[in-house]
Amino acid sequence: MNYILLRKNMVDNQLIRRGIKNEELINAFLSVKRHLFVDKDLEDLAYEDYPLFIGYNQTISQPYIIALMIEKLEIKKSDSVLEIGTGSGYQTAIISKLAKEVYTVELNEVLYSLAKDRLANLGYKNIYTKLGDGYEGWKEKAPFNKIIVSCSPSELPEKLFEQLAKYGKMIIPLDALFFQKLYLYTKNDTIDKEFICDCRFVPMTRKK
Ligand code: SAH
Repeated sequence: MNYILLRKNMVDNQLIRRGIKNEELINAFLSVKRHLFVDKDLEDLAYEDYPLFIGYNQTISQPYIIALMIEKLEIKKSDSVLEIGTGSGYQTAIISKLAKEVYTVELNEVLYSLAKDRLANLGYKNIYTKLGDGYEGWKEKAPFNKIIVSCSPSELPEKLFEQLAKYGKMIIPLDALFFQKLYLYTKNDTIDKEFICDCRFVPMTRKK
């Protein structure tokens, strides 16, 4: 398989054609090897236009939804970013190319340790992983300039809001169990909420 070509096709057909413009983001998608974030038997499908199972009822998100969420956050090189739901670590790797540092929290112990090892083996240096409940955020490392939530909570997690810096942005799927709406919140003097699109994410579960 020519993975370089598959990445180029993914970027052209799934991202640019649908309106993704941010050049740094496009370069990140060209360089991060998505096939290394899925099981061996799924490697050849890694660049397709859909999510893939990564075990434990979880998925690696579709490339386009990751690109859309990150583009909307307008991540800067000086930004500290909090990610809830590390999953495979793929989205974490993409964000790490754009931000100063990424703090990522995962609830599932096995996925957490797989992603942690994978990201370390691939040489990502500005990523910090934590096993924990995303509803709590990562208080010690707050405030964050940007927050990205890649699982869907039943209600807006207040603690994440508290950990968002002034003028910070948070993107999060909300509203329903199976299909959700993706919202972009901006913390100005008031809190602005913008509807982005309909979407489908796995639920954000509570720590047992
Ligand atoms: N963006 C990821 C996909 C994540 S799927 C990727 O690129 O692979 C959503 C992840 O959220 C799953 O791994 C799931 O275990 C995790 N999750 C669910 N509830 C959570 C919670 N309360 N706190 C942290 N992570 C949670």
